[in-house]
Amino acid sequence: MTDAQSLLRSIFGFDGFRPGQAEIVAAVAEGEPVLAIMPTGGGKSLCYQLPALMRDGLTLVVSPLIALMRDQVRSLREAGVAAGALTSANTDEETQAVFRGIEERSLKILYLAPERLGSAAGVLRRADVGLIAVDEAHCVSQWGHDFRPDYLRIGELRRSLGVPLAAFTATADAETRAEIVTRLFDGAEPRMFLQGFDRPNIHLAFRPKDKPRAQILAFAAARKGQPGIVYCGTRAKTESLADALGREGHAVAAYHGGMEAGERRAVEERFAIEDGLIVCATVAFGMGVDKPDIRWVAHADLPKSIESYYQEIGRAGRDGAPAETMTLYGPDDIRLRRSQIDEGTAPPERKAADHGRLNALLGLAEALGCRRRKLLGYFGEAVAEPCGNCDLCDRAPETFDGTEAVRMALSACLRTEERFGTGHLIDILVGKATAKVTERGHDGLPTFGVGRAYQPRQWQAIFRQMMGHDLVRPDPERFGALRMTGAARPILRGEAAIELRRDVLSAPDRPVAKQMVADEDAPLLSALKAKRRALAEAARVPAYVIFTDRSLIEMAERRPGSLDEMAGISGVGATKLERYGRAFLEVIAGPQDETHPARRKIAGSAAGGIYDRLAEAQARLTRGADGTGKPMSCTASTLRWIAERRPGTQDALSRAPGLSAAKLDRFGEAFLEVCRAG
Ligand code: ADP
Ligand code: ZN
Repeated sequence: MTDAQSLLRSIFGFDGFRPGQAEIVAAVAEGEPVLAIMPTGGGKSLCYQLPALMRDGLTLVVSPLIALMRDQVRSLREAGVAAGALTSANTDEETQAVFRGIEERSLKILYLAPERLGSAAGVLRRADVGLIAVDEAHCVSQWGHDFRPDYLRIGELRRSLGVPLAAFTATADAETRAEIVTRLFDGAEPRMFLQGFDRPNIHLAFRPKDKPRAQILAFAAARKGQPGIVYCGTRAKTESLADALGREGHAVAAYHGGMEAGERRAVEERFAIEDGLIVCATVAFGMGVDKPDIRWVAHADLPKSIESYYQEIGRAGRDGAPAETMTLYGPDDIRLRRSQIDEGTAPPERKAADHGRLNALLGLAEALGCRRRKLLGYFGEAVAEPCGNCDLCDRAPETFDGTEAVRMALSACLRTEERFGTGHLIDILVGKATAKVTERGHDGLPTFGVGRAYQPRQWQAIFRQMMGHDLVRPDPERFGALRMTGAARPILRGEAAIELRRDVLSAPDRPVAKQMVADEDAPLLSALKAKRRALAEAARVPAYVIFTDRSLIEMAERRPGSLDEMAGISGVGATKLERYGRAFLEVIAGPQDETHPARRKIAGSAAGGIYDRLAEAQARLTRGADGTGKPMSCTASTLRWIAERRPGTQDALSRAPGLSAAKLDRFGEAFLEVCRAG
């Protein structure tokens, strides 16, 4: 077996494993049954692609997403791996080529859409399948949102092929996990890997809504030209926001479940290929989004739970480079989300759990300290230090003792029999005798006017935070009316205090996007991106298939001056180096001499340096030691052979292809000396 570390370097161009990858790769390569739960962007694909190359035979990868499979196959081929896919979107030629690859035993990785499991089973039994990998393994769960009935055939395929299986997913609660074990592993516990949830490169931020459209436009303006997603609560909003962004000169598209499948696919394709497209989308824009270089995600409306929030922001920055998020929320969002739960058809205990998940998200929105700590805490992960990469770490919020204000508000609520919404309650608190107030005699309540110390706007923020802390809830029976919850009782009775945020409405927007590189490297980074765009367009592949942002950033910062140095950049594997190394090197260091392909193939390895010294020795001796002999030289492939094998004796050296006796005589000693020096 070839060792994982060297394949990681030579094929994928990565210097090290991400957390958890090394252990998972080792277990899968050993043929152990594995269930790995890793966050989006954690690098799951590598955990089966690398073992596929380490093991004999063909690795089957079952994945539900055609767009994703196509990208993966393209990326693998760019990296020099024989990969193919069988999906319903294949042309006949593509399918024929795949079957040929299987028969000739040349194919290493085959992506298989679940609907092809039945029809391909026969062919697969005759192929030398050595491993099955299941991506998005939670699709086997009948109770989940992503259930794919065809996934139920996977267990049968595994039994009939008698090969190990490794399953991967980003989302699996205990229930789903148990279902995966039953259906994919016949109930035999596989080796379990549970990888942490932290995505340290994603900046977290929440903002109360305050002219929300302007907030989104400002956020996008500061990130112009960078690919991003704006998640919207309604289909109509995806379109109106897309229009507004378009008028500001952004490249933008709308996406929602009401669009035709063809239109939706066109947007997905554009998003993958174009460099700086913004998509305004409902959550329908989800699973199929596999673009690693999404630089920002904004929520124009509050997501439905903390899990959804985590999943949606998690689409940003999968390549590990900095990414930004901003989530807007307001009292209307809270009301809407509550009523969606209350009006749903789920049984009561499910509804209670859904309110709990929403509460967790609201708690995160109204947090007073590091958001990442709070978010990861929810998923059961402790974080020792504040993260330094969220809005509250950037700038600690100003707080005040809100106990008195909350008591006044609760009292207004109770004295009006919990029959009114925020607007009316605020009128009472600030002593505004509107018609509605006087008609009902609310101007005679002891609460009337007790809250004059705060502006109506400040009361809005207080009520929003009260909803966020689940002290009051909109009554599902009476739309908009607020009811006190049990959680508020201790505050009302004076047994508990509550701290509220003061500055939430006045905090200035984070002015400009964090630069991806220092000022002096920025022009080079744009030039590298332009080169990447040109190559991607010519090859009609997404830009990141050529190189990810991360690789380009590293190039801009480290400025490799030769192919050997280029080979040291993360993401630059042997095949990509050979295909694209020179083009990018020229952007960095100006025109380069043509490097012989034989030399290019060993760039970045020890053999590269030896080759260069062999070539120098040869140049010195072209006309012999005294400079009068007949000119003589070896071919590049002869030099490469010697550089790679480093023979130690004349005898061993004489076996180099193309090294005639005369050449051996002229160069032998010098070559051996180079090889010995290493
Ligand atoms: P997911 O777990 O969401 O399926 P992917 O497998 O798509 O994640 O990986 C996300 C990104 O991280 C990809 O661009 C991939 O190339 C990159 N990546 C994966 N492993 C590594 C690594 N060890 N070093 C650097 N980048 C990596
Ligand atoms: Zn933080």
